[in-house]
Amino acid sequence: MPSDQVPEDELLPSGQIGRRDFLALLGAGAAALLTDRLRALEAAVQPGKPNIIVIVADDLGYADIGVHGCKDIPTPNIDSLATNGVRFTDAHVSCPVCSPTRAGILTGRYQQRFGHEFNPGPLKVTDVDVGLPVSQVTVANVLKSAGYATGIVGKWHLGAAPHFQPQKRGFDEFFGFLDGSHSYLDLKASMPAPIFRGTEPVDETDYLTDVFTREAVSFIERHKSEPFFLYLTYNAVHTPMQATQKYLDRFPGIAEERRRTYAAMLSAMDDGIGAVLAKLREAGTHDNTMVVFISDNGGPSFPDRGNASNNLPLRATKGTVYEGGIRVPLLLQWPRRLPGGKTYDNPVISLDILPTAAAAARARLPADLKIDGVNLLPYVRGRRTGQPHDILFWRFGEPRAVRKGNWKLVRVPQQPDELYDLASDIGETKNLAAEKPEIVEELGKALAAWESELIAPLWGRAGTALAPKAK
Ligand code: CA
Repeated sequence: MPSDQVPEDELLPSGQIGRRDFLALLGAGAAALLTDRLRALEAAVQPGKPNIIVIVADDLGYADIGVHGCKDIPTPNIDSLATNGVRFTDAHVSCPVCSPTRAGILTGRYQQRFGHEFNPGPLKVTDVDVGLPVSQVTVANVLKSAGYATGIVGKWHLGAAPHFQPQKRGFDEFFGFLDGSHSYLDLKASMPAPIFRGTEPVDETDYLTDVFTREAVSFIERHKSEPFFLYLTYNAVHTPMQATQKYLDRFPGIAEERRRTYAAMLSAMDDGIGAVLAKLREAGTHDNTMVVFISDNGGPSFPDRGNASNNLPLRATKGTVYEGGIRVPLLLQWPRRLPGGKTYDNPVISLDILPTAAAAARARLPADLKIDGVNLLPYVRGRRTGQPHDILFWRFGEPRAVRKGNWKLVRVPQQPDELYDLASDIGETKNLAAEKPEIVEELGKALAAWESELIAPLWGRAGTALAPKAK
């Protein structure tokens, strides 16, 4: 069995005995006689393939949801995913900015393996070399091949040229925008970066977050009778800081204007997630839908710019390889298969979403595909113990980081090596590099070995000239 596939026993609901366990109890002779009968019984009680919804928030502060301790902005619907599912307490994204993280989510691979190391900068349809390389298989390709209806609602940010657009990357449907950010209020089809339905620019008059919610609910309604995959990528709570009075009025107690607007934007997204969950219930598919919630990077909580998000107790922000850039909320709900109210504490990464979704769908991955992510289902169900990942890596240009066990090595240009024990120092305040040179050396060697598998970035940092293409 390929490592990405979930044994049938690991997909059975909690508390049920697996077929293999049962057969072992019976003994080989009886097992052979009963195998066919058990298969027939299983077929009768197995529900259909689960629906899969991956919700990506944009630039959400680590501390800005209720289950992470947020006090000034209620997020009851996001929190409900933790109450009814699994909350990962040590979850990361593969990059501290938007586009590379999304490349990692969609491919299950470290995006530096294929040169998608940086944000692409403002995109035009004539940018034919800047986007998620067409050589890469996406989770939408995988699920579409398994019979799923596939759609994206929201921010794409993986290339604007026709061959990079979602409909060419495994998505049947696209409603949203192609670039990295968008006004929430000016949604004219005639603007330079319009909202698209498929390939057609559309006029919208509502608040963009509400528009995306409407489209997500519509997608569920239209596909409720078949397995579907919805990639719902709100651009909330990314700048520009814009909210409607309806949401602003919820926060009269927040005096600081930017934080108040942020709260309103987040509240709109939380309402939207509530509407999606309500639609799943109405459609009778709630319990057999796997819902993932993640942010694409940490909050850009700079004093005078950014979005007034809060990453505490983590160090630093979006754009850095400190925990404030790469450690994010990650929630996973699938009531029919996974326990509710559970936390999972071993380190995981956004690259795990593709193999986890593929396993849930019982979709086959191409045999030659090198996936860095791990199927998390057996871990969160307690069927597998130990660490899903022996080691995790980050590279965002010069800044690099390595995580093994509780140890994290940070290498930033013009600074000495930094080594932190995240078990006792989640805020990365006490550099232990001088005290633990052997760990610095071990992690440094592992980092070099990983980097030897990567290629040069296909383009430079956002806003800079393109780097020479890697050969
Ligand atoms: Ca982002």
